[in-house]
Amino acid sequence: MGSHLREVFFLVGEGDVVLWSDASESPVRLPDTRARWEAIWSRRERIVEIAHSHPIGPIAFSREDETTMRALVTALGRPVLFSVVAPDGMIRRVEPVDEPGAGEDRRARLVEDEPWWTRLLRLASGMQETSRTTDLARAVAAPSEIATKEQ
Ligand SMILES: [Zn+2]
Repeated sequence: MGSHLREVFFLVGEGDVVLWSDASESPVRLPDTRARWEAIWSRRERIVEIAHSHPIGPIAFSREDETTMRALVTALGRPVLFSVVAPDGMIRRVEPVDEPGAGEDRRARLVEDEPWWTRLLRLASGMQETSRTTDLARAVAAPSEIATKEQ
């Protein structure tokens, strides 16, 4: 697989269990497939969150994502949590069933504490470790820290 960048799609259930996944062959597109719709439909009672990656960004929902989200909540008949995982972070938004009013807050929010599966989603998408993850790893492994604790 190496550094082959591609969009990856996860269906996530209760307890952050990954129910199903698939991937495109492109870093900027995730074309609809019959298999994906069937996977969503057959797991519709268990889906908590629908996530996909943008391996080269942006950390935002695309116009195509918006259309797909509308179609999905209309088909499922209930609000669904959607997320986009990019190299530098993750955003989430609940898509309501009804076409939201002008005053309604539909802004996506940056996720501070990412679930465990975002790492898997990034790896499957061919993304590099984020600078944030690298900084964290360095902080944890910093020899001075360890030396201080041993004294
Ligand atoms: Zn997208």
